[in-house]
Amino acid sequence: MTETLQHPAPMVDAFGRAINYLRVSVTDRCDLRCFYCMSEDMTFLPKADLLTLEELDRLCSVFIAKGTRKLRLTGGEPLVRRNVMSLFRTLSRHLATGALDELTLTSNGSQLARYADELRDCGVRRINVSLDTLDAGKFRAITRWGDIDRVQSGIAAARQAGLHVKINAVVLKNMNEDEIPDLMRWAHGLGMDLTLIEVMPLGEIGPGRIDQYVPLSLLRSRLAKQFTLTDLEESSGGPARYVRVAETGGKLGFITPLTHNFCESCNRVRITCTGTLHTCLGQEDASDLRRPLRASSDDVLLSAAIDRAIGLKPKGHDFIIDRRHNRPSVSRHMSVTGG
Ligand code: SAM
Ligand code: SF4
Repeated sequence: MTETLQHPAPMVDAFGRAINYLRVSVTDRCDLRCFYCMSEDMTFLPKADLLTLEELDRLCSVFIAKGTRKLRLTGGEPLVRRNVMSLFRTLSRHLATGALDELTLTSNGSQLARYADELRDCGVRRINVSLDTLDAGKFRAITRWGDIDRVQSGIAAARQAGLHVKINAVVLKNMNEDEIPDLMRWAHGLGMDLTLIEVMPLGEIGPGRIDQYVPLSLLRSRLAKQFTLTDLEESSGGPARYVRVAETGGKLGFITPLTHNFCESCNRVRITCTGTLHTCLGQEDASDLRRPLRASSDDVLLSAAIDRAIGLKPKGHDFIIDRRHNRPSVSRHMSVTGG
């Protein structure tokens, strides 16, 4: 196992981008079935293919030894993986040594009430919770069977535990696009930032991806008629662009992979729960890390496989949604790659 006490230099790809952010999908399973993310009868990966929590810890620790400073656990729904708290617990040692700046997660909030205090204990300080609507009926329609009260209780428990919560919402045509001002007032009223996400063409979900898509440039100009939006310079190296909303005092983010290309500043890579490394969310590229991980108990092969993959990180994505391309640009679902 590799332990790090000092800050190693980050990995750098062929385009000079420093790679210091890792997202790990700890499970592709989920207790909801958001219609833009999965089909109702989604086929999940065979459980036998999954890395164990110990293997996931080892993999993350090698990335940290190679200069990863920020780690986000996601899924699927990360909190439905059995015993996932033991992974948070062991990974938190890297926060204690200072090797890692941030350990965080993206969750649908349904299990948060149960785990909020423990997450805080494990050194988690900020979390993203996905919530596309405040309307119980629409929530059920979007998630196919979700109960919004559970999510609201989860958010309340997280805030109570002292976690800083950011809300993520996918903007969906004829579903929640008119509700965004209310969602924003609600989030900002509780001191939570809100980030809006454009639907991305990931994974087969049945017909209708094109019917879900709202360009956020359009939404932003609609919001600008009601609110005073001031661009903020800050960037997390990610695809979000932020504005300050004068009327609420809160921060609003826009993730616009289709209308704005963010790849030149991309600092992140993703691992699936089976140990596949994807260096770009919007390309089919994939490197198997499970084999080198299992081939030897030292990390030499694994480290070399990671270096090879980082060296091949593509320059950018090729997302496209239009009438002629009404099929996924990338065949993997977001729940596999990790959103
Ligand atoms: N289950 C957790 C959740 O919903 O937050 C974590 C995983 S989920 C795949 C991460 C984020 O991806 C969520 O905010 C979700 O709304 C978003 N997402 C899923 N499929 C998407 C798609 N096709 N396009 C854009 N965002 C998507
Ligand atoms: Fe589950 Fe998150 Fe996908 Fe919804 S977006 S189905 S909560 S993984």
